[in-house]
Amino acid sequence: MTAPDLPLINRLLDVIEQDILPKTAKGVAHGNKLFGAAILKKSDLSLVLAETNNELENPLWHGEVHTLKRFYELPKDVRPDTKDCIFLSTHEPCSLCLSAITWTGFDNFYYLFSHEDSRDAFAIPHDLKILKGVFTLEPGGYNAENAFWKSYALPALATALPKADAEAVKARVATLAAAYAALSQRYQDSKAENDIPLN
Ligand SMILES: [Zn+2]
Repeated sequence: MTAPDLPLINRLLDVIEQDILPKTAKGVAHGNKLFGAAILKKSDLSLVLAETNNELENPLWHGEVHTLKRFYELPKDVRPDTKDCIFLSTHEPCSLCLSAITWTGFDNFYYLFSHEDSRDAFAIPHDLKILKGVFTLEPGGYNAENAFWKSYALPALATALPKADAEAVKARVATLAAAYAALSQRYQDSKAENDIPLN
């Protein structure tokens, strides 16, 4: 990957806003969680596909794993090599999804909201609880860069930009955070009715 720059950050925010969020709004209306993901080609940043959480069907269908399921349903002749793709997640991947991204051969992933955001802003504490309870890891305790992949938090990337660009990205992130907060409220209001094991 080349050094992340403003066009890349804006493109990834576009995909969240235009491709993932509409799917997630429908998913949340059905009672699913608000996590989503997408796969893009590195070469031209075109979208391969976007998907959203579908835990009502299967508790393993987190946004990322459900995206990967759909990806491998694409005919092999049109499905790009994962090494040639960017993996984008709305929220920092949980231990299940970190492993899924690893086992499918991506060398990167990007995300907007952190594990702490999932716990504090979205009332989903399971990522951090599992990392601590199963893997004895404190927040931030996994290798964000390792032999398999390098991960990037979009807000952190934005802080390295020139001030005006960083401010513009910050404003876009705030708009997205408000949209996700509304979806979160909707999910939390409905979750007593679902049978998702960790809801
Ligand atoms: Zn996950």
